[in-house]
Amino acid sequence: MDYTDYARLLQAHASLAEVAEYGRVMETGKEYPLFRLTVPGSRWLVITSGFHGEEPAGPLTLAESFAEIVAYARARDVGLRVYPCINPSGFEAGTRYNRSGERPNNDFLRYEVAPGAWKGELHHGDSFLRWVLYDGGPKETRAVRDDIARFPPPAAALDIHQDNYLALPATYAYAFGDSAAYRPMVEASAEHLTVIRNGHVDEHNHTDADGLIVFHDGSVTDYFMRQGVPYTTALETTTRTPLPSCHTVNLIWIRGFIDLAARGGM
Ligand SMILES: [Zn+2]
Repeated sequence: MDYTDYARLLQAHASLAEVAEYGRVMETGKEYPLFRLTVPGSRWLVITSGFHGEEPAGPLTLAESFAEIVAYARARDVGLRVYPCINPSGFEAGTRYNRSGERPNNDFLRYEVAPGAWKGELHHGDSFLRWVLYDGGPKETRAVRDDIARFPPPAAALDIHQDNYLALPATYAYAFGDSAAYRPMVEASAEHLTVIRNGHVDEHNHTDADGLIVFHDGSVTDYFMRQGVPYTTALETTTRTPLPSCHTVNLIWIRGFIDLAARGGM
């Protein structure tokens, strides 16, 4: 989808939310405004999506179902800060990375694993001395990271992705915190789409019986975990999944995360 058309979909929600630009990026000679949609409330949920451009479902769910999401949040006095399309040039081109070939995911954190030795992600058994908020990375990451870091940690945070590698319609999630909190969302999703349980999703990562993975990958989800946010997850549906099923699963998790934010913690 042309990003100008997508931006128009977002602007149409200006009566429901503050639609603000948190930055602009230049990609191959074209300027892209970056949007944050804010709805006030007493406890906050941050939703991010569109880090990877070939994963359109999340940005589309957010733009197309925003009114329904806001109604659900308002009824529970949950505030929303939504970054619906973090990598607009990739979204427009349908490419994973941005138009200048940078990789706008991860790069929120760096881990010092030994004095002076820094890593962007931890694999099984890696220990670390400390973490820091990273200050480099692709322009889209810098823009969203700077904006997110201006605000106090939310009560919950959901990052919506897709998996473009697995060759079947399915869902799973990278999640920190109590699995029991996510189980109702997993089970509701399983009524619509196969949940990958106890399975490999790539060479490093293996889901548990709930289709969940713990992975300190330096992503926004990992950043919120380190900030003490009790509920923080990166949801995946595969790109082989029909879009309506992606929307259904995304909305199950969005509503579930609004409920978790309402329940509190921070
Ligand atoms: Zn992704």
